Amino acid sequence: MMARSVLTEARQIDIARDLIELDARLQVLEAEVSLSRERLLRLYREVKGKSPPKGMLPFSTDWFMTWQPNIHSSLFMNIYQHQFKSSDLEPVEALIRAFRLYREQVESLGMPEVLSVTRAWRLTRFFGAGMLGMTECTSCRGHFVTHSFELSHQYVCGLCNMPSRAGKTRQAVVGREPATTCAAF
Ligand SMILES: [Zn+2]
Repeated sequence: MMARSVLTEARQIDIARDLIELDARLQVLEAEVSLSRERLLRLYREVKGKSPPKGMLPFSTDWFMTWQPNIHSSLFMNIYQHQFKSSDLEPVEALIRAFRLYREQVESLGMPEVLSVTRAWRLTRFFGAGMLGMTECTSCRGHFVTHSFELSHQYVCGLCNMPSRAGKTRQAVVGREPATTCAAF
C-alpha cells in the first residue's frame, strides 16, 4: 500500500509538472491532481520561477465558435480524440499529449498558437458535459467543434466558408497547403 501511494504521488507530480510546463492555470492543476494547493504552488514556482497568474478561468463556449479559435480548437480536438482511440491514456494524459502535438502542428505551419492548454482543458470539459461536439463539414468532410444543440444538417466549416475579414489569415494559413489543410481537421 505504502509503495503504491508513493508511486501514485510521483505520477501526480509528473502530471502537474507537465501541465505547468504547458502554462496551465492553477485551477486546472487543482482539478486534475490531488496534491494540496500549497504543494502545487511550490511546484509551480520551482518549474516556472514565479507564482501562477490569478484570475477566473474562461467559462463560455462562445469563444470556441469564433472563426480562428474554432479552427485551432477543431485541430486540437481531432488530435485529442485520436489519442483516446489509439491508446489507454487517462483524460489528463491525453490532454497533455494532444496539446504538445497541437503545439508542434501550429509551429510547423508557422501559425500563432491560438489555443492555450487551459482553454484546451476547458474544451474537453465542455465535450464531456455534452455542451460541445464534433460535426462533419459537408464540403471538406473535416470534423469541427460545434454547439451540440445546433442543427448539424448542411454544416459548412469556417475554412470552407471563410468570413471576408479572415481573408488575410486564410492566405497565410491555407496558402501553404491548399486542399489538404482543411481535410486534415
Ligand atoms: Zn470544410
